[in-house]
Amino acid sequence: MTLNLAVLLEESAKTRPEKTALVIGEREMTYSALRDAAKSFAGALSSMGVGPGDKVALLVPNVPQFVVAYYGILSTGASVVPLNVLLRGAEIAYHLDDSDAKVLVAWEGFLGEARAGLEGSGGTCESLVVVESPDGSGASGDEKGFGALLREHAPEFDTYQTMPDDTAVVIYTSGTTGRPKGAELTHANMFMNAMCNADKLLAMDEDDVTIAVLPLFHIFGQTCVMNATIYRGGTMALVPRFEPEAALKTIEGAGVTVFSGVPTMYQYLLRHPDLDDYDISSLRVGVSGGASMPVEVMKAVEERFGIVILEGYGLSETSPTATFNRSVEERKVGSVGLPIWGTEAKVVDGDDREVPPGERGELALRGHHVMKGYLNRPEATAEAIKNGWFHTGDIATMDEDGYFYIVDRVKDMIIRGGYNVYPREVEEALYEHPGVAEVAVIGVPHEELGEEVAAVVAMKEGESTTAEEIVAFARERVAAYKYPRRVTFVDELPKTATGKILKRELVKGTADAETER
Ligand code: AMP
Repeated sequence: MTLNLAVLLEESAKTRPEKTALVIGEREMTYSALRDAAKSFAGALSSMGVGPGDKVALLVPNVPQFVVAYYGILSTGASVVPLNVLLRGAEIAYHLDDSDAKVLVAWEGFLGEARAGLEGSGGTCESLVVVESPDGSGASGDEKGFGALLREHAPEFDTYQTMPDDTAVVIYTSGTTGRPKGAELTHANMFMNAMCNADKLLAMDEDDVTIAVLPLFHIFGQTCVMNATIYRGGTMALVPRFEPEAALKTIEGAGVTVFSGVPTMYQYLLRHPDLDDYDISSLRVGVSGGASMPVEVMKAVEERFGIVILEGYGLSETSPTATFNRSVEERKVGSVGLPIWGTEAKVVDGDDREVPPGERGELALRGHHVMKGYLNRPEATAEAIKNGWFHTGDIATMDEDGYFYIVDRVKDMIIRGGYNVYPREVEEALYEHPGVAEVAVIGVPHEELGEEVAAVVAMKEGESTTAEEIVAFARERVAAYKYPRRVTFVDELPKTATGKILKRELVKGTADAETER
């Protein structure tokens, strides 16, 4: 049996060619136009030597070209490597090398970082395709312009018949530890998750209008918004970057029915001073995920927006949706719901034995949503997937009715406004500072973002610096959502007997630190 995720678009274009697939501002794109553009791009990539088994990296915000490129890449049988658009040059180079990407497709606005990434990469990446903004000048030298490539290639391309277990997408995540690793999600993983989200969880139909405020490079936006909408033949309204006002305008303008976001987005919308000026009555349901939704916020949103908020839970490694609260009748507020259709979840202890309801343990998942593994990292894969069960690194409990509750994290990770920040990566950047002896990067509670990134620094003997300088130093090296906004200096970091830094103690001590910006 063959299965290519590009079928999601091809089937919808076949059955409803004139239906609007994408809306961005005043512009609209039909399913047939979207399919044709994707086919042209597949032809262009193919003429550049891209084919089955290759990887193509995407550094593109939520604009129609992301969608065109995504399905075009899939059509060739290659895998998509979506990159966080906030990455800096050195980070881009790492991702290009690690994934063995052959081509980088980058939005013009990120060209500086993209070029730096390509230059810094020592790997196989040979070409840069520049996605021009409407007023942009586009590619130069050997670089290729996205629009020109589409014009040069006819919209005829025979989609490569991949196998269900072939890799469709490589999503970078740090998993439970270390540097970012590529989670290999197969065509079957991605197809099943899009279908479950659209049909089983949200009962979407072609009249639904979704809004892409979540970044499409992240698995939440990609599966739950983009692939689910395209599969169902609905309309997706694109917002290039989440801003409450742009989101509200789009909800009103496009008549959005389904809003999917992280808790922070709901909080921003709720607090927007001009909320009353917008007609948001088209909304029928809200989906929350990515971080835990405070019950009070959920209630406030439901009351003010007149919709139900359904909370789900998932990870990059599980395509992403793993558990979900299906409906008002079936949900339990504060829980992340039940395992999705056809999958299993359990809570296990340190010896991998299932614990009784009510007891804490690590959440493990099994089913069609679990990734094939981490790209080129058999050891990390074996550590994460044991006997077919993926170990999430999240601490959970299950109640007597089988509902799951996320109570803590085993993994060292900060979730800042829905973005995952892996402390080790930021710590490594700060250790490059010549005066720094020891550093710990931690998450401290923040009212709107959920958590804020903070650094606790011990300087070398005789060295001193300011919080501002440390912030600026980090800011140059890591993406904007990762650098610490708070810096506290200590003589020495508290440690356990085995020398492990006591991060929890630091969190307590740093929550009230004054050096905030
Ligand atoms: P990512 O791989 O970026 O999708 O991040 C996955 C992580 O986000 C999970 O391992 C959890 O720690 C966290 N997460 C996702 N959804 C929820 C939720 N509803 N409640 C609490 N944490 C969540």
